[in-house]
Amino acid sequence: MRILIVSDIHSNLVALEAVLLAAGSFDQLWCLGDTIGYGPRPNECVALMRQHATVAITGNHDLACLGKIDLRDFNPDARKANLWNGNQLLPANYAWLEGLPPTTPVDSRFTLAHGSPREPVWEYLLSTEQASANFDQFTQEVCFIGHSHVQLGFRQRYGYDRVERFLPDMARTPPRGQIVDLSGHCRFFINPGSVGQPRDQDPRAAFAMLDTGANTITYERVEYEIPKTQRQMVECGLPGPLVRRLEFGM
Ligand code: ZN
Repeated sequence: MRILIVSDIHSNLVALEAVLLAAGSFDQLWCLGDTIGYGPRPNECVALMRQHATVAITGNHDLACLGKIDLRDFNPDARKANLWNGNQLLPANYAWLEGLPPTTPVDSRFTLAHGSPREPVWEYLLSTEQASANFDQFTQEVCFIGHSHVQLGFRQRYGYDRVERFLPDMARTPPRGQIVDLSGHCRFFINPGSVGQPRDQDPRAAFAMLDTGANTITYERVEYEIPKTQRQMVECGLPGPLVRRLEFGM
């Protein structure tokens, strides 16, 4: 089974459509939250998740757009974009987002959390120390996380304490991304990166593909028409710094 893993779409419809096209056929889609916020097309992105997502969770920006967490927790640009995104939402899309949890198990092997298992809404899981503490917070083999907008992974061999952090090296493995082999008796945190606002100095849309038959996860990147999203953002009156950051991948 091929499972498309997406996170932090952030209302970037052009990027999301590029990911769906590049992914090819898939049997399931798991969405790790922050479907909206920042970008110009919240309803369209939620509609695509309602159509495709087998499992979905919510993120801090989703909750802020819905008015469920305090907008003062965000910087002025993000706050303004969240307010705008929330005001656009059609009732059915609002209701769908409102029903999502910030973390959920999928089955006995896989679980999802927006930020981290111990702090699903807010923790940026970026260090081996954080990963080490969080491996105790779930029982499955692989926890997929989002929130940091950085493609990365942590691995811990069963029976050992040591945690290793790894970043996919997309340049060295063309034309497809780096493949993580799940058959090596390890547990993992896997962050597929952000579809709509990457922050790892690579502006291409990021996603991952889980192949349960091959027992692998592949990190993927795909180019999309960044100026098109930027034009849409300008037309919607979204803040300039949020428009510009897309072309730098930060
Ligand atoms: Zn996000």
